[in-house]
Amino acid sequence: MNLSKSKYCEGITCIKKLWLSTYKPEEKEDIKESVFETGTEVGELAKKIYGKYIDIEFNTDLNQMLEDTKKALNTKGDINITEASFNYNNNFCSVDILRRVGDSYEINEVKSSTHVNPIYLEDISYQYYILNNLGYKVDKCNIVILNSNYVRQGKLELDKLFLINDVTNEVLNRQKEIKQNIIDINSNMTKEEPKTSLGTCCKDPYDCPFFKYCTKELQHPNIFDISGMTFTKKIDYYKKGLISFKDLEKEELNPKYIEQIEYELNNKEDKLDLTSIKEFMNTLEYPLYFLDFETYQEAIPQYDGISPYMQIPFQYSLHVKKSKNAPLEHYEFLAEAGIDPRRSLAEQLVKDIPKDVCTIAYNMSFERTVLKNLAELYSDLREHLLNIRDNMKDLMIPFKNRNYYNKDMQGSYSIKYVLPALFPNDPELDYHNLPLIHKGDEASNAYATLHLKSKEEQETIRQGLLVYCELDTYAMVKIWEQLQKVCRNKCN
Ligand code: SF4
Repeated sequence: MNLSKSKYCEGITCIKKLWLSTYKPEEKEDIKESVFETGTEVGELAKKIYGKYIDIEFNTDLNQMLEDTKKALNTKGDINITEASFNYNNNFCSVDILRRVGDSYEINEVKSSTHVNPIYLEDISYQYYILNNLGYKVDKCNIVILNSNYVRQGKLELDKLFLINDVTNEVLNRQKEIKQNIIDINSNMTKEEPKTSLGTCCKDPYDCPFFKYCTKELQHPNIFDISGMTFTKKIDYYKKGLISFKDLEKEELNPKYIEQIEYELNNKEDKLDLTSIKEFMNTLEYPLYFLDFETYQEAIPQYDGISPYMQIPFQYSLHVKKSKNAPLEHYEFLAEAGIDPRRSLAEQLVKDIPKDVCTIAYNMSFERTVLKNLAELYSDLREHLLNIRDNMKDLMIPFKNRNYYNKDMQGSYSIKYVLPALFPNDPELDYHNLPLIHKGDEASNAYATLHLKSKEEQETIRQGLLVYCELDTYAMVKIWEQLQKVCRNKCN
């Protein structure tokens, strides 16, 4: 078959994955588009890191790309060519940035990640194999990634934003295997689906989009439904034939996994450790401020003080219960599209939350990090923001500690499991019933691309974001009320 960089990498990770991509692509689950967009944005910017370059335009007719590359290589002197394309025995590759200095070549593979994943080494080794077999003298192979320690101040500095990792030795060490890998891949690409068994390759280097397809015969609940267990451990049990909860019931497992299995198999009653719940509830004092941030990330920092993939807050929802009998109040903030949202958000937040009050978040480490980052950025608001952070309580604690547990939580303490487990069939608390945005990554993507939309579309999306975030804090209020209810029942 005609191999490309991505097909080769798929093929050596799991031959069935490549086979399914080729013959049953309709079974593939959706890959988030934003990841792809991030990749292309980084790739475009990285083209400039070595200065002037000749770009080989993408063409579905690969022969045209090969022709254009030949022409570019005829240029005299040292050159940089982006997307330089080559073919050796039906093995095709486009090199992100090819540099020619004298008669030596340098391959640069650009990734939008902040670390070198081992699969990148396979990718660049395959490119070296092609160029080397075509007679090019490749002296150096680099993987270019984003520098997570880079903090933008003023103009983007490409030499600081990107890290160039010399992986020449790793590439040379892999050369012996490549020919055989290519032969193996080709011999498996017959009409017959490979009988590959599940393995760590289903999650590593990436979540495989065919996992649902490959596990469709398994009854639920099964080992892959155990919450919190590493995937490698799950695969170990799977390979031993310990797959269903019945199979696992008598195994010596972490007590939390055993509890999940027992509750789901035996339909057990809710577990309530009322002493611990009450202890936790006693740490919460009126007035109560239920806070939730929405954030987005960008690979290329657009504003000062931002690093690649840093969480940038753009929205919050705040429910306030000032005293036992006070009505529930709601405050919210959603930044304008296409601006740095942090200053206006921080200013509004310190107006909405006074100092020395009890602020409640669910999984507060996230909210605390956002507050710390804002405090580091704005010295005039620092004291207030850190005061909010230091007075924060985590509503997740009773669920994380399994002081309150039922089978519908399925071993998880995430609010997305806890909420429907505590309030089944409540349409008001069902994220599926929201009009546009149903989860955090949808909210991030919606805001990150909001400025590209028409005024009308922006209005609809903003409305979707507001009702989504409001439900996050309203859900926290309902969970807190439920904890109050079970504590009251104890007293009665
Ligand atoms: S889910 Fe696992 S076995 Fe199935 S195609 Fe993907 S990597 Fe291969």
